[in-house]
Amino acid sequence: MWDFETDPEFQTKLDWVDAFIREEVEPLDFVLGHPCDVKDARRNKLVKPLQQEVRKQKLWACHLGPELGGQGYGQVKLALLNEILGRSSFGPTVFGCQAPDSGNAEILAHYGTDEQKRRFLAPLLANDIVSCFAMTEPQGGADPKVFTTRAERQGDSWVINGEKWFASHARYAAFYIVMAVTDPAAKPYQRMSMFIVPADTPGVEIVRNVGFLAEKQAVHAYLRFVDVRVPADHMLGEPGQAFVVAQTRLGGGRLHHAMRTIGQARRMLDHLCERAVSRETQGEKLSQKQMVQEKIADSWIELEQYRLLVLRTAWLCDKHKDYNKVRKDISAVKAAMPKVLHDIAARALQVHGSLGISDEMPFADQVLQSFHMGLADGPVEVHKVTVARQILRGYQPANSLFPSYHLLAARERALEKYGADFEELEQGA
Ligand SMILES: Cc1cc2nc3c(=O)[nH]c(=O)nc-3n(C[C@H](O)[C@H](O)[C@H](O)COP(=O)(O)OP(=O)(O)OC[C@H]3O[C@@H](n4cnc5c(N)ncnc54)[C@H](O)[C@@H]3O)c2cc1C
Repeated sequence: MWDFETDPEFQTKLDWVDAFIREEVEPLDFVLGHPCDVKDARRNKLVKPLQQEVRKQKLWACHLGPELGGQGYGQVKLALLNEILGRSSFGPTVFGCQAPDSGNAEILAHYGTDEQKRRFLAPLLANDIVSCFAMTEPQGGADPKVFTTRAERQGDSWVINGEKWFASHARYAAFYIVMAVTDPAAKPYQRMSMFIVPADTPGVEIVRNVGFLAEKQAVHAYLRFVDVRVPADHMLGEPGQAFVVAQTRLGGGRLHHAMRTIGQARRMLDHLCERAVSRETQGEKLSQKQMVQEKIADSWIELEQYRLLVLRTAWLCDKHKDYNKVRKDISAVKAAMPKVLHDIAARALQVHGSLGISDEMPFADQVLQSFHMGLADGPVEVHKVTVARQILRGYQPANSLFPSYHLLAARERALEKYGADFEELEQGA
């Protein structure tokens, strides 16, 4: 059964969210700093009442089940919601579903002790604190075999030494979720374990914060751990299970990035269309020029294709309730995401001329953000490999030198089955 309708009751909620984001949340992007800066009094003064309103509407932390204060709406509804939230950098924070806290909360809910849930999860869910996920290292992020940050057991503690790179929001975070090698002799994917490291633990150092042009602040930390001691129970999951634990957050996290990216890409398309019907050159509106029409049509088609892929993947997640069964689809969504955002933002930039490239318009930022989408949570290339490998699992090598073996075999079968009929027909003729 295929159904492309939103149920009317939920559509009413989406309409409310749409107006709320436009009127109350989008303006924050122009006057505030970083959404995760929970120590910024101005930010809290403006954001907290909006978060309260969202709670009142029962739309807070919709990625979580009711036991954690969410609505348990599932991924399809979340996709429809996130498309709207993605339009504003404050949207996810106002609705309690910002990355990486959303994924880190899922990890803590699955693997945290009662005490850790009280100390870290509860304030994280309330957005009184924020968190950081530290996996990538300076010598590489795409290949976990090169990770060297080490955790060694000493009595009732784990002692962590090493460096992490591009650990987003570490400067605002109350704690980090850190991947470290606990058994160097084990196979690469069983070598590492996951830890909670409170940010104020002695030996944790932010070497520097790295930024990029599209962001107002440098928020990606180069982290160093020197003899950082955490209690034994700060390991999340079993020893050697870091990748299993990471999957709890990465599957949903990648999909949620995609949902929000649809919101950004649609915003770019809106700007493109508005410009096309407004600007006149050589006696006619840009919207009357076929090359501009092509840009609009291509953008709409690419966005709608992508949106269907994302919604279908969300639907598969709801159906299987197991990210592992949807790995290929999530990787496909991840791999396709940067190009959709890049191409639509670049067309919007071009059609705005000099204004488009200026820092008064969001297009150059979004072109750069598309590279963020192509790197964070794993580079596009790695996800394409996952997609291809899973597709290839369904194929057997042909017992023939000819690559079109299956076609030849099908022709032979057809001739065997119907050949006689054709001979009769030919004789009759
Ligand atoms: C904005 C942003 C935020 C981030 N936030 C976090 C965070 O919070 N926590 C965290 O742990 N990490 C974070 N990252 C890091 C991100 O996960 C890594 O950048 C990513 O995994 C790639 O690692 P790398 O940068 O070391 O590149 P490398 O691993 O050195 O790869 C470089 C390039 O090599 C190519 N390549 C790599 N592998 C393959 C392959 N198998 N086949 C073909 N080509 C390949 C790709 O083009 C890739 O981009 C963030 C990154 C960005 C850009």
